[in-house]
Amino acid sequence: MNPRGPDARSTDLPAGGGTPEWLAASLNHCMRCGGRLRLGPVEGDPRQRLVCEDCGNIAYTNPKLVVTTIPVTEAGEVVLLRRGYEPGRGSWAQPGGFLEVDETATEGAIRETDEEVGLLVEPGEILGLYARLEAAVIVLVYEARIVGGELRTSPEALEVRAFPPDEIPWPEIAFRTTWWALVDWLALRRPDIDPPADRWLRGGPG
Ligand SMILES: [Zn+2]
Repeated sequence: MNPRGPDARSTDLPAGGGTPEWLAASLNHCMRCGGRLRLGPVEGDPRQRLVCEDCGNIAYTNPKLVVTTIPVTEAGEVVLLRRGYEPGRGSWAQPGGFLEVDETATEGAIRETDEEVGLLVEPGEILGLYARLEAAVIVLVYEARIVGGELRTSPEALEVRAFPPDEIPWPEIAFRTTWWALVDWLALRRPDIDPPADRWLRGGPG
């Protein structure tokens, strides 16, 4: 039913396309010495890299990890938030954000969930690890048990709600990764409920 492969790619881009243009365009100067970066070959490396013309330092481009949770209430409802910021402002997604360098993936997911919707959660099963090559991110989604806190809004979350599994607001889901995480969660916990057809197959934002 789901057309994606085992790597759960949430993208239509083929692998091997190099650094996305928007990301390369944001990298003009060496982080170490401020010299100009130029794309070129590096000895012993099959890929072209952004290399500093002055000191030879290489600006590697790697994806960032977005850590998120789908908090599940005792009644088996999923907590989603209506996004306060672009991208996807006004649409529904799960709480989450970029992992910081000084925390584990689980710690980051707990922190982001607390910051955005006020819930203390205990991440459990990994529902998916979804690649978005166009955005240079990997989205990690945990199913999470709610162990404390209280639902509240935040600048990131204009509205916060727990949805029964058969009332998930599919037409208003912000991201393909959120869509797939919810589909994967249903398959795991509520296989009796059929998710709607993937609307991104007909085109739409990632
Ligand atoms: Zn340099």
